[in-house]
Amino acid sequence: MKRSVLKFGGSSVADLSKIKDIANYLKERTENDEQLVVVVSAMGKTTDELLENVKHITSTPNDQDLAMLLTTGEQQTISYLSLILNDIGIKSKPLTGYQAGIETIGHHLKSKISSIKTDLFNQLFLTNKVIIVAGFQGFNKEGELTTLGRGGSDTTAVALAAALGSTCEIYTDVTGVYSTDPRIFPAAKRWDMISYEEMMEMSALGAGVLETRSVELANNNGIHLYLGKTLSTEKGTWIVPNDQMLERKAVTGVALDKDMSHVTLTDSSNGEALLNDIFKKLEQEEINIDMISQIRNITGMQLSFTAKDSDERQLITIFNLLKETYPDLTVSIVEDYAKISVIGAGMRDMSGVASRIFRTLIESEIPYYQVTTSEISVSCVIDEINGEKATRLLCQKFDL
Ligand code: ASP
Ligand code: MG
Repeated sequence: MKRSVLKFGGSSVADLSKIKDIANYLKERTENDEQLVVVVSAMGKTTDELLENVKHITSTPNDQDLAMLLTTGEQQTISYLSLILNDIGIKSKPLTGYQAGIETIGHHLKSKISSIKTDLFNQLFLTNKVIIVAGFQGFNKEGELTTLGRGGSDTTAVALAAALGSTCEIYTDVTGVYSTDPRIFPAAKRWDMISYEEMMEMSALGAGVLETRSVELANNNGIHLYLGKTLSTEKGTWIVPNDQMLERKAVTGVALDKDMSHVTLTDSSNGEALLNDIFKKLEQEEINIDMISQIRNITGMQLSFTAKDSDERQLITIFNLLKETYPDLTVSIVEDYAKISVIGAGMRDMSGVASRIFRTLIESEIPYYQVTTSEISVSCVIDEINGEKATRLLCQKFDL
């Protein structure tokens, strides 16, 4: 019997009537003799609301308490969906991450899945048509509940597909992968197919549609991944191995990442021990930094990098600790920058992409402060207020 993993994001399960619509759709799918594993996110903005509530309690919550709280969001959705399915005669079983055997390692709030037990699924499918799994959560060796990082339900879905050897369909409020966010550039093109490589780069550089780790996981396990709009008949996008792409454009996407802070640290020492301590701490706390630039000379050292806005709380804690040992350390964190990136696997065989980007920005008087490149992308730090305008200009320039 065919087995598929389906995932529905927060906006698709935002209220009970939406969950009912999904239940009816799942009913139709099971009538075609399919076994379904359904991963759901927390309803609507629940995760944000839970985090907001915590701010009224403390500015330094401990990670175990936070993980415990956040897992309740997804637990609500699996319960409602299962109640509705069972009520309309489709036997279903809801599972928390713990029950589903999703074991994780690492930081409580950014855990990585280390293993999933599949025996339970085989056993449950003997008597159930649908198994519903709470996204974004698992448990660690100590038996504590953990979460996978924001957007982590995508990773839950792909990891389950990998463990169960099935395809993975991810449903959200957009119809597939576009060259850029259609809310910013309404003429954006939707691709029928995009390579894992380009999708990973696009997600990593800020295109919010799929979480980066989930695409990496799909790539590593050869999972066929489909991204489509919930309950829509419009065609979505298949994310496929690089060599299955028939035609390649030089540039396939423009991603704008507003969730970016620019951090600058200076110190009057030349910084060897300090730099060592900084990077050690960032690694321990699993904070991803990017666009690192470092200057050291006789007047001291300066280090700057970009990080996610959401890591700011942790960064401030780290820097305050370091100031105890390095009293001269100055820290400035600027939040109103954005990163704009132009992505395309075809860039490898084409020259002149970077210079066309810079020319476009300069002609429109959009200053850029820092540039980094990978094999298939060019990224520039710009002022956040110029972000959307730059996105539109670059899409026009590259016919996206
Ligand atoms: N509910 C979690 C979040 O909002 C996980 C997810 O939706 O994927 O980040
Ligand atoms: Mg998401």
